[in-house]
Amino acid sequence: MCVGLLSSVAAHAVQAADCPGHPDAIGTSRTIVVDPRAHPLIGTMQYAKTLPLEDHEVVLTFDDGPLPKYSNQILAILAAHCAKATFFLVGRQAQGNPEGVRKVRDAGHTVATHTQNHPAGMHKLPIERSLQEIEQGIASVTAALGDGTAPAPFVRIPGLRVNDGMEAYARSKGLQIWSADFPADDWRNVSPNRVYDLAIQRLEAKGKGILLLHDIQPRTVAALPRILHELKARGYRIVHVVPATADRPATPTEPAQWLLHPPSEVVAISRWPKVPTFAEAGPAALPVPALSNLDWHTSDLGAHIARHGRGVPLPPAALWPRPTALPPATTAALPIPAPSLFKIPESTRLTLLATSVHGAPAAQARATEASSAKVAGKSGRSGRTAAARPPAPAVHTEPSPQHAAMTTAKPARSAKRNGRSVRVAGLKKR
Ligand SMILES: [Zn+2]
Repeated sequence: MCVGLLSSVAAHAVQAADCPGHPDAIGTSRTIVVDPRAHPLIGTMQYAKTLPLEDHEVVLTFDDGPLPKYSNQILAILAAHCAKATFFLVGRQAQGNPEGVRKVRDAGHTVATHTQNHPAGMHKLPIERSLQEIEQGIASVTAALGDGTAPAPFVRIPGLRVNDGMEAYARSKGLQIWSADFPADDWRNVSPNRVYDLAIQRLEAKGKGILLLHDIQPRTVAALPRILHELKARGYRIVHVVPATADRPATPTEPAQWLLHPPSEVVAISRWPKVPTFAEAGPAALPVPALSNLDWHTSDLGAHIARHGRGVPLPPAALWPRPTALPPATTAALPIPAPSLFKIPESTRLTLLATSVHGAPAAQARATEASSAKVAGKSGRSGRTAAARPPAPAVHTEPSPQHAAMTTAKPARSAKRNGRSVRVAGLKKR
């Protein structure tokens, strides 16, 4: 550990000295090599893992370029600080400005990709379309590089709108999906000062991590020199990230290093949740509640509560169940039930058996229905209303794996209801 500390300090010193003419430059303290196949999803804004950084280490990332007007200024600022970053380039921007892609590469930064057209709702696109966006983005940046080399297999999804399909694709193709550890909101209509404040505050809150910026924003150009200056003043160090290749093995790491805050063996308290602290100030006696604090004082008893069963308005619920007629108290003994009451007709029994062999998802679906019915008031009524709805149409305007799963699940659910209640089946036929 001491050796590691020393070497990291030494590397820092070397890099600072390597920025001639800029004694205040933050420099780049070290380069880490990562294997996307070992860690396909990173960035604590969305995932459990992030890059294996030490405390006070920062990875700079810039999205959406290249756009000459601002990207060139970002490159100049980084050059003046000898700071290396990762650029997530948009394919269409690369086609329009291939020279800008080569400038990023020639300055020694990592060239990564950010889809072809930067669609706003990537997670809502059909999966084939979103994968096409990723592939075309890589192809366009590869073409712009023009030397037969490909960009790093690092991909950031626009707006971080990633879904299971894209993640599965990344795993299968050896791509690493980069989320981030903190943004600085530089795509919003805020001042450069605000971008600076957010970058520093959010970094301080986590202590290290991946900073998400945009090299196409004038406010980022204005804020970046101050951010870099402040990072150095506060003892932060810039880390450059490159992908592992056949002749460049990944930097050796322990699994725990990929967590933002690795569990410590010596600090036992971190293994238990924090005990909340309660304020004990205030009056000794609690105030007597006023009638107006209660919501059952009105004469319409619950009628004001709008009730919905799967979107269908239901009649207002009574607060108490309807009283049932009890046998007269004079009855000495209850009659013995006839044995025929306990007979289960053959057909019904078979249906019940079929219901019980359904797996956990079916049971879970029933539990969900039951709990939502409880919220609505009367489980029987809302259940019947749901069952009476027509089956979902086979064609959706928004096809997605989740939708497909929901569509196929519905008939199975109705079938279970059929098995449970004859009345439900009767309602369904109406
Ligand atoms: Zn973007």
